Amino acid sequence: IVVLKDVKKSFGSLQVLHGVSFSVEKGEVVALIGASGSGKSTALRCMDRLETIDSGEIHVCGHRVDDPGLDLRKLRLDVGIVFQSYNLFPHLTIEENIVLAPRSVKKLDKAAAREIARGVLAKVGLSDKADTYPEQLSGGQQQRAAIARSLAMEPQVMLFDEVTSALDPKLTGEVLRVIEGLAASGMTMIMVTHEMGFARRIADQVVFMHKGRIHEHGSASILTEPATAELRDFVSEEL
Ligand code: ATP
Ligand code: MG
Repeated sequence: IVVLKDVKKSFGSLQVLHGVSFSVEKGEVVALIGASGSGKSTALRCMDRLETIDSGEIHVCGHRVDDPGLDLRKLRLDVGIVFQSYNLFPHLTIEENIVLAPRSVKKLDKAAAREIARGVLAKVGLSDKADTYPEQLSGGQQQRAAIARSLAMEPQVMLFDEVTSALDPKLTGEVLRVIEGLAASGMTMIMVTHEMGFARRIADQVVFMHKGRIHEHGSASILTEPATAELRDFVSEEL
């Protein structure tokens, strides 16, 4: 459902991705890990065409993301992305935030969009917060609302970039449980994360990036039995 082939990307004279390749089957959970600056966010952003690439191929849900003529709107119907910062609209209630895209992009009527909002809020455990404003929620609740907003578009693939990094441990747990539920429901997910225990539990594939290259790649067992010194060091520092 997602394929990267020899993806290269530079910012000016700085090459950030030196030929990254991996593929993800429908329903798989991929943990993208690596030190700060190794290119994780850039790789993720390239998959949603928030960045263009210099060479290589990216296929996501049947879209050629590297094609300059790509229909961005169609890509974004199939891909949801959630960042560390929640980016909820502060002047809208949680439900209004969630129905915005289904209403405007999918042209759903009010009742249908509300129905979807109720469903996704239940999924993230925020059924009672539909009418509150973002600032009235905890960080973890806001992040779950942001995930709900993404889910409301019924994406085929979800991308997460360090969604728990800004949260304290208790709130992190709440958000991870939501993601775990999504994994159990068969959602295809690629997540940049520093939560090694979580990655070990739910990842079907672990991709370890080091200096813009995939340095190690395998099942979650590479976290407990790293083959390279770089991954060994990384894992021990994250614990
Ligand atoms: P972190 O764990 O800190 O989030 P990362 O693995 O996500 O790191 P990236 O954000 O992908 O790393 O950044 C990789 C490299 O690309 C870094 O050296 C960064 O400074 C550089 N970089 C990222 N975005 C840009 C940009 N828009 N312009 C210039 N350089 C950039
Ligand atoms: Mg990053």
